[in-house]
Amino acid sequence: MSNQEITLSIVIPVYNEEENLPELLSRTIAAVDKLNTPCEIILVDDGSRDASQLMICQAAEENPGRVVAVVLSSNFGQHAAVTAGLEVSSGKYIITMDADLQNPPEEIGKILDKMREGYDVVGSIRENRQDTFFRKFASKCVNRMVRKLCNGRTMQDYGCMLRGYSRPVINAILRCQEHGKFIPMLAMSFARNVCEVEVKHAERTAGVSKYNLWKLIALQYDLLTGTSVFPLRLLTVCGFLVALFGVFFGIVIFIMSQIDKHWGANGIFALFAIQFVFTGGVLAALGLIGEYIGKIHLNTRARPQYFIEFVKGKNHNNAGENK
Ligand code: UDP
Ligand code: MG
Repeated sequence: MSNQEITLSIVIPVYNEEENLPELLSRTIAAVDKLNTPCEIILVDDGSRDASQLMICQAAEENPGRVVAVVLSSNFGQHAAVTAGLEVSSGKYIITMDADLQNPPEEIGKILDKMREGYDVVGSIRENRQDTFFRKFASKCVNRMVRKLCNGRTMQDYGCMLRGYSRPVINAILRCQEHGKFIPMLAMSFARNVCEVEVKHAERTAGVSKYNLWKLIALQYDLLTGTSVFPLRLLTVCGFLVALFGVFFGIVIFIMSQIDKHWGANGIFALFAIQFVFTGGVLAALGLIGEYIGKIHLNTRARPQYFIEFVKGKNHNNAGENK
């Protein structure tokens, strides 16, 4: 099967999932068989230390042109692994999915139907989410933050990785060279038509979640600092507030010392007020310097300022080529 013919690429990151792989493969292959669409299943081994790599390579050998094995040299993290899979993919539509069968492969058809209706990004909402309370709470925080960072272009659920993307959106994502990408969010910034569908959610079939508390905090921190200069602005605002408080405190001390000569502990309180004003000034200045660093950060990230979806009416159409 030549690359041009592939309509659908399914990208699955795999990290120590040997217990889930046999069922994942059989169910995914069965599900795509029903779609009657040329399709490739790309399994990306993210530096697994169990038999996953071996199993993936074996599956690729047994299903040539159907299963593709991408083996990374080390553990780079879920989103880096997905990006590697996207780079190898050649489908017109791309669907990402987890390897732990929490997202049933049988739902792929639902996402594909929506993509064919012309949506650039199809998100998914987990019906009856089957996760621990801690995991749900952490997700809620991430979802809320991502919604804020996306300036109103919102989706209900960013955590569910069973999602569909059109080729132009994937090409745009691949042009972003920054580290610590969060693909669902990046996709939103390049998409025109987005929608969400409800998909079933099951408990992890085997193995444990690869995200512990520390990894989740790191992800949240990465998201915040990677996409916005909001924390720096907060520093400036805090600085001004502290300085303002210092001035206000100074006025109160002055008035009180006029009323009662002994009030204010012989000027020590006044020193405090001055201290507040200076600390506030330093914080505000730090925030201001931070703004410049933020600008450097945004520029070094080298994210494309725009992305041409297609060009019409030009004879030699090389201006709009994205690949
Ligand atoms: N994963 C990965 N690299 C990692 C961590 C996770 O490729 O460093 C994969 C993992 O194998 C799974 C998916 O990413 O297919 C989601 O991981 P997990 O199910 O542990 O996360 P959760 O469902 O708890 O969000
Ligand atoms: Mg999972």
